Amino acid sequence: MNYRHAFHAGNHADVLKHVVLLALIDALKRKDTPFFVLDTHAGRGRYLFAAEESRKTAEADAGVMRLMTLPRLPEVIERYLRAVQADNPVGALLAYPGSPLLVAQAMREQDRLAACELQPEEAAALKALFAHDRRVQVVAGDGYAAIRALLPPKPGGHKIGRGLVLIDPPYEAQEAEYPAIVAALRETLARWPQAVCAVWYPIKQRRSLQPFFRKAAALPANSALLAELQVRPDDSPLRLNGSGMLLLNAPWQIDQAIAPALPALKQYLGEAGASTRLEWLKAPR
Ligand code: SAM
Repeated sequence: MNYRHAFHAGNHADVLKHVVLLALIDALKRKDTPFFVLDTHAGRGRYLFAAEESRKTAEADAGVMRLMTLPRLPEVIERYLRAVQADNPVGALLAYPGSPLLVAQAMREQDRLAACELQPEEAAALKALFAHDRRVQVVAGDGYAAIRALLPPKPGGHKIGRGLVLIDPPYEAQEAEYPAIVAALRETLARWPQAVCAVWYPIKQRRSLQPFFRKAAALPANSALLAELQVRPDDSPLRLNGSGMLLLNAPWQIDQAIAPALPALKQYLGEAGASTRLEWLKAPR
């Protein structure tokens, strides 16, 4: 069993990523017309905190678990915590829902999700999870290739005009992942110009992200927004000091929806020197 990614389930990076993801889904739900979500690097869909590896590192204790103990948080965070709780019907937090499960839980009968996962064991777990949900297509394979295969979206032969592409790679290739991401974003926008795109990125040393941001800002999207949480200063290149979400073609007023979350996440998940950022690389036209 491959628990590599269970180590971190529910850590500060997952919290930031999934708070923003659910805010995006809620924004898409403001209209009744269907939307389509492509999750290019979906993972297994559900992570068990009881798995020995996640207990050892207990990164969730400084993430989602800590937030669960707090009485009052901004609604955008409370909404995320309710979604995590909904995957834990007995009360105690035993499981952490990954991005495809959070999206499937939040979307409606008319909406569709395609979730791609390259690792065969993870993909098998994902397929089992959605075996009875006809709104969800699980693709065992490369998420970047899925952009070419599945966009523009036409699930079941029906064209869907609105939606989101979430790109959340493991960055095993480190710096080499960024050109692949930029190419994937370019391909997405060429096939589906109005797509909302969300890319999660790790922050080890933030200045090394500048070339990626410059290229992202030059893409033919209407806008580019960064939402970041750094839980400590970015002076160590070896640690995950924070993370961010790059949003292209972000839904109207998404910055206002996310804004209250960031200071609260900094206050409760941050160490000395923590910081946040909500910044337009390219303001909406
Ligand atoms: N998006 C998930 C979530 O938020 O719960 C977590 C995804 S995890 C960070 C990255 C996943 O991408 C891993 O499960 C890994 O096996 C998978 N992966 C790696 N390379 C891939 C590729 N080229 N295409 C699709 N999946 C890939």
